[in-house]
Amino acid sequence: EEPPAAMAVPQAGSPGLALLRRVGVVDPSSLDDYRAHGGYTALRRAFELGPAGVIREVTDSGLVGRGGAAFPTGRKWQATAAQPDHPHYLVCNADESEPGTFKDRVIMEGDPYALVEAMTVAAYATGAHKGYLYLRGEYPRALHRLEHAIAQARARGLLGDDVLGQGYAFDIEIRRGAGAYICGEETALFNSIEGYRGEPRSKPPFPVEKGLFGKPTVENNVETLVNVLPILTMGAPAYAAIGTEKSTGPKLFCVSGSVERPGIYELPFGATLGELLELAGVREGLRAVLLGGAAGGFVRADELGIPLTFEGTRAAGTTLGSGVVMAFDGTVPLPRLLLRIAEFFRDESCGQCVPCRVGTVRQEEALHRIVERTGAAAADDIALLREVGRAMRDASICGLGQTAWNAVESAIDRLGAYE
Ligand code: NAD
Ligand code: SF4
Repeated sequence: EEPPAAMAVPQAGSPGLALLRRVGVVDPSSLDDYRAHGGYTALRRAFELGPAGVIREVTDSGLVGRGGAAFPTGRKWQATAAQPDHPHYLVCNADESEPGTFKDRVIMEGDPYALVEAMTVAAYATGAHKGYLYLRGEYPRALHRLEHAIAQARARGLLGDDVLGQGYAFDIEIRRGAGAYICGEETALFNSIEGYRGEPRSKPPFPVEKGLFGKPTVENNVETLVNVLPILTMGAPAYAAIGTEKSTGPKLFCVSGSVERPGIYELPFGATLGELLELAGVREGLRAVLLGGAAGGFVRADELGIPLTFEGTRAAGTTLGSGVVMAFDGTVPLPRLLLRIAEFFRDESCGQCVPCRVGTVRQEEALHRIVERTGAAAADDIALLREVGRAMRDASICGLGQTAWNAVESAIDRLGAYE
């Protein structure tokens, strides 16, 4: 039985798009069709530029990670390429699990060869000969399409011992996640591939130095990697001219909730939240928007002028994260929604460190009491939530615990959720 398709992509294939231009247009099972739509021109360009030239282009483009943390990709690639220890590995993080995030799924299902090509470019630039694609277990359609694309690429000399006849060897192995949100954290993901329990490691050392199997590793999100294709085909200056000075290029936004046309939208960085919601058909009575997913924060309906850039959302005291935009109208009971978020973090905490293991339970308990009291909070529960939230943020090992209080805090401070 065919698994359900990813959500609608309202403007896929429209001219002017860089990341979605083939989605819904190209036959995802056909390598020939991919090539007929511009596929593998970026890899050819990469071989012309050489590894150092590719890294220069990626650095000059201003590309930063699209998984949520916005670390400069060129810096990551350069740091790995420079490591004397070998082998180097490439890991594509396709364990897309942030609630409200479904952009990588759309790329992998709609344009799987693009990811295979982009991984080949990244590996070539950073001196890796083996790439792991760590795929969310709940994405069966993406798995089938990627397996097929990898097999076809291998059969046609685009993966294997002699990629494009250039004497460069590279191949990709898919590993499936098993439903744990924490395995999207890069070092937990490495542990999972290595056959250990999916628990984050302390950083530093960063993966660029000691990553998968203790070796220098580049770990990039699917969307980050796919951006490398337009960077190479259009050139870094043209790419950097898209968006704003500090957030360059296009971005995929995952719009869901109280809108007429939920789905993935590709926009240059710098459009406002209001402009995006206008495209998605914002409904009457909008109350709040959650940016960045469960690890992100709420903004009010009167804050739609916030520019959708890393610097703009930071200045507004919120986050862009991986591009989640969840709209909520007045019919959504906010205290219940926050309790659901807290349940999620309690469930997904790996339990390795005390602030997160205990803090996520205490947070859920307090929010439960609030919901039982018909949604209004006693002052001591708010004080407890703040204290627990601070401890999780300051003392947790990884991003899960550090961000588990973000959404609740923003709901208290910006939305007056429990008054
Ligand atoms: P981070 O800021 O610790 O690191 C970001 C990346 O930069 C990592 O790859 C890290 O190895 C690298 N890095 C950081 N400093 C470095 C240095 N000095 N030298 C070399 N490399 C360096 O963030 P993180 O914990 O990896 O990720 C947190 C983000 O993940 C959050 O912002 C959240 O939005 C996002 N997230 C996304 C999803 C999703 O489904 N896409 C799910 C959960 C969380
Ligand atoms: Fe595990 Fe939470 Fe600690 Fe991260 S913060 S290592 S998820 S217990």
